[in-house]
Amino acid sequence: MNHLNVKLAPGLYFVATPIGTARDITLRALDVLASADVLAAEDTRSLRKLMEIHGVPLTGRRIIAYHDHSGGGAQAKLLEEVAAGKSVAYASEAGMPLIADPGFELSRAAAEAGHMVTCAPGPVAAATALTLAGLPTDAFFFAGFLPNASAARKRRLEELREIPGTLIFYESPKRVAASLADMAAVLGNRPAALCRELTKKFEEIRRAPLADLAANLAEQPVKGEIVLLVDRAQAAEVSERDLQSDLQAALQDNSVKDAAAIVAELHGLPRRKVYQLALQQAKEG
Ligand code: SAM
Repeated sequence: MNHLNVKLAPGLYFVATPIGTARDITLRALDVLASADVLAAEDTRSLRKLMEIHGVPLTGRRIIAYHDHSGGGAQAKLLEEVAAGKSVAYASEAGMPLIADPGFELSRAAAEAGHMVTCAPGPVAAATALTLAGLPTDAFFFAGFLPNASAARKRRLEELREIPGTLIFYESPKRVAASLADMAAVLGNRPAALCRELTKKFEEIRRAPLADLAANLAEQPVKGEIVLLVDRAQAAEVSERDLQSDLQAALQDNSVKDAAAIVAELHGLPRRKVYQLALQQAKEG
């Protein structure tokens, strides 16, 4: 038996479920599912199946269906249970609740009512894809699903164009070719990755610039669940001449180190590279 029966404090417990492989569930998630007074889920059948796989008994508990559009009734019922001192566990169909999934309204209402809200965290497709994409991870922006219509999709991509981090999108296999074409048109031919069927049998990562990914897709269409990741815009090319003249100006009132830092920041360049140039210029007087 992998789960423990524990006494849970009254409150709302968001529970992450696997995004593919059932054994990716955490032991704590199983404990919460085994021990909560009340169970609620976006998809009652998939939670029942997951509990069955892991041998977690329902012990007479019914699973209440809840998503953010269930209407106030289902939300009020869950909050009443918490107010009455019960522990309520909520799971979405796959991955972390609230991440392109229901739970936000429930979370906000429970916090506003002053209830304890906590989470048994676990798999997220976006973070799993980021780990595998081969793109920078120092900063990233989760953009969820893009609009279906091309004009609206392009407008959204324009809003995202200048974000200084890796962009992460959820995609459907039906729409991915059209989205890649729009991305290449609006964002330019940036490095990108298509990650599909993560943690499942046919897991695959295709790493290539956007236009190559689009061309490759025409030859080898994809099925299954997809995360698309796109590198940030590269700093505009700066001519050596501009760099030299900016450094000259900065060196008039600053140390070599500070001048290099100012100019590096201005052009989004590595400090070390600019420092070497500044040093050289300072030496030459
Ligand atoms: N809550 C989930 C999470 O934490 O990632 C996301 C749910 S959202 C409704 C479903 C979308 O997530 C899919 O259309 C796909 O874009 C992405 N996704 C979910 N599981 C995936 C997987 N195993 N591989 C690739 N993408 C996945």
